[in-house]
Amino acid sequence: MLNHWEALEHQAMQEQWSYAQFLLALCETEVERRWSQRLKRTLNEAQLPSAKTLATFDWAHLKDFNPAPLMQLTSDSGWLKRAENCLMFGPSGVGKTHLACAVARATVELGYRAKFFAATTLVQTLQHAKRQLLLPNTLKKLDRYDLLIIDDLGYVKKSEAETSVLFELIAHRYERKSLLVTANQPFSQWNTIFADDMMTVAAVDRLVHHAMIVQLQAESYRKRSADQRSQTQDLSQNAHSEVNASAPVPAQVGNCRDN
Ligand code: ADP
Ligand code: MG
Repeated sequence: MLNHWEALEHQAMQEQWSYAQFLLALCETEVERRWSQRLKRTLNEAQLPSAKTLATFDWAHLKDFNPAPLMQLTSDSGWLKRAENCLMFGPSGVGKTHLACAVARATVELGYRAKFFAATTLVQTLQHAKRQLLLPNTLKKLDRYDLLIIDDLGYVKKSEAETSVLFELIAHRYERKSLLVTANQPFSQWNTIFADDMMTVAAVDRLVHHAMIVQLQAESYRKRSADQRSQTQDLSQNAHSEVNASAPVPAQVGNCRDN
């Protein structure tokens, strides 16, 4: 308010505002300033790995995909209030992380708090907390986030890590706060993630009870982009060599060779 009142006062004098109008304008400017500061702070704490949004997502690339339910998650915060989850499946490169970031960004813009984790990093963090006997505290601290994104759950392997901490997180957030999980394996292969079949079933059960399941099917967008780049390169190389072939041989070259 300190930064704006003089400019507003000047405008108020010029346009002969009433005191009430001046006060309203002052308050509105302050509310806007506080909102944009909060947005900056919450986007920063969300630590999204990319600033990708739904606006830059090419829906046509996905096969038989109806984006409406996913768009709904970004415009209506009801699912966060009801502590529902979103589970995204699909092979590598189909846009799971892109969409997860876009949904998380939209929820932050709706005024909620989100936090992005690569699944493997999250497991390490939770294991560390468990070793320090601080797991309950850490889980409680994560409650401040309305949405936790666990990206690439399938990269967690029970052989490498004690993954019961992941189950403890899922159980702790169940019907309390939302999770957005991405994975490239279907549920049937999740027994490679959790300690035993019983834990796998219990985790899946809690995750799907109140959840939107999004299945993404397409060729890898990375591969498609790489293919397109190499096609463009080929075309430009062909065009280049055709131009060179039809161009007259510079006289000097011939002269040099002759010499
Ligand atoms: P995944 O997490 O499924 O492996 P990513 O979300 O990392 O895939 O996507 C790989 C790259 O391709 C990213 O740069 C992403 O922005 C882009 N991408 C994927 N799908 C699309 C799409 N349908 N439209 C626009 N960009 C896409
Ligand atoms: Mg990814």
